[in-house]
Amino acid sequence: MSQQDDLFKNIVSHCKEYGFIFPSSEIYDGLGAVYDYGPYGIELKKNIQDFWWKAMVQLNENIVGLDSAIFMHPTTWKASGHVDAFNDPLIDNKDSKKRYRADVLIEDVVEKYRQKNAKEVEKAKGRFGDAFDETQFLATNPNILRNQQKIDEIEGKFKTALEAGDLEAIKQLIVDLEIADPVSGSKNWTDVRQFNLMFATQLGSLADDSNTIYLRPETAQGIFVNFLNVLNTSRQRIPFGIAQVGKAFRNEIVARQFIFRTREFEQMEMQFFVRPGEEMQWYEHWKAERLKWHKALGFGENKLRYHDHLKTAHYANAAVDIEFEFPFGFKEMEGIHSRTNYDLTQHEEHSGKKLRYFDPELNQHYVPYVVETSVGLNRTFLAVMCNSYKEEALENGESRVVLALPAFLAPIKVGVLPLMKKDGLPEKAREVMSLLKFDHQLFYDEKDSIGKRYRRQDALGTPYCITIDHQTLEDNTVTLRDRDTMAQERIAIDKLPEIVAKKVGWKHLL
Ligand code: ATP
Repeated sequence: MSQQDDLFKNIVSHCKEYGFIFPSSEIYDGLGAVYDYGPYGIELKKNIQDFWWKAMVQLNENIVGLDSAIFMHPTTWKASGHVDAFNDPLIDNKDSKKRYRADVLIEDVVEKYRQKNAKEVEKAKGRFGDAFDETQFLATNPNILRNQQKIDEIEGKFKTALEAGDLEAIKQLIVDLEIADPVSGSKNWTDVRQFNLMFATQLGSLADDSNTIYLRPETAQGIFVNFLNVLNTSRQRIPFGIAQVGKAFRNEIVARQFIFRTREFEQMEMQFFVRPGEEMQWYEHWKAERLKWHKALGFGENKLRYHDHLKTAHYANAAVDIEFEFPFGFKEMEGIHSRTNYDLTQHEEHSGKKLRYFDPELNQHYVPYVVETSVGLNRTFLAVMCNSYKEEALENGESRVVLALPAFLAPIKVGVLPLMKKDGLPEKAREVMSLLKFDHQLFYDEKDSIGKRYRRQDALGTPYCITIDHQTLEDNTVTLRDRDTMAQERIAIDKLPEIVAKKVGWKHLL
């Protein structure tokens, strides 16, 4: 098992042990790829969601919010193309009986070549030092060129097969690349089949086909069908956006890697309505804006990358992913799509209602074009966890696990700890609590030694701890301990609200 596998396993156990994430219905041995968020998980998830809402809705006068229902009229999904085309290509291994997504098996091979090239670059950097010219190296090094040729060849064949919907060609590519089942090592594959990812259920008590409705597989369609309602009530003019956070459901073929891919998840989506012909400029705008947002979550430059789509979805004329480097490789966290006027036009056709905008400047009616930003809340949660989890050796020979979360995201902002459970220290600590509790999520803890209590807060990602000691009773000062440096400073109690608010604020980030 690689170091990265070990690290990921430790992150997963940490999430369970410290009350971030539990397997769903665990007492019944869980349910595949469904998870529950515990006391600290819900706080962290909520903070990420709030940060998205603030960045998108609060800070943009021309973006408004919406909360549409999960159930929608079934024609919605006919119009959007999901009934006919929301499929993944699946393939089974006949020996291990394990099921895979054919596209993922192929993409994994491509990623291996990419990683090989990244390693070549790293090695060369070390060898040539300051004299290293990366552009020239990429253009001339024979190993790099050979790997790149392989990548282009695979992607070329894959793209042709996808565009033609040619499942046999996809299977042939898997055979030609000699892809083996990662579990059994066997190359004994079935044919590739398409599998629709939507969950269906029945509305009302009659189980007949006409009552079949779907659990929404994306939140976007709730925005499109409300386009006119929002336009007519929000005094917005094009360009403007509608933002929504909500649950989506997909019957994923393979749901592994913890909360990375689950069957029930949350999306934070924004559909931005623009003049036809102006979509590419807005696409570039949102591409840049969204990367900025991810950086504000504390992800380093080298942890994020853009990845252009090989084949755009049936509704899009441009699409890019923002990927984060998880311990299991670079993977999609957000999709930014130029969706043209596809969805609104489809809904016009299926509903018989006009979904148009009158542009007073052009004196013209048109169906707006749409640029979408769609990010997974749970995936962002996982990225934040992976980015923050650290196992540190301390100078005194001990070790600690610390979640170096950006302070504004931390589930608990301040741990309030009386040094002892006597001499009036708990009472004084309660006074400090009352001073801060209306503005921040706090944690009061008087059990165990102070060292153990600090460790517990480090493991939860609490950026600051306030300790109330005997000196506090004399001069009304406390110590404020910083999670990352473990340094402590003495501070007057009446200064705490201002200092803490500054430290855990998010204003400077956007
Ligand atoms: P993937 O290729 O990983 O299946 P996708 O391209 O189908 O994802 P989109 O339809 O663009 O994903 O959805 C937007 C975002 O929603 C994704 O970037 C991801 O963060 C999140 N998402 C999609 N499917 C899942 C899932 N099954 N579990 C968790 N998050 C998901």
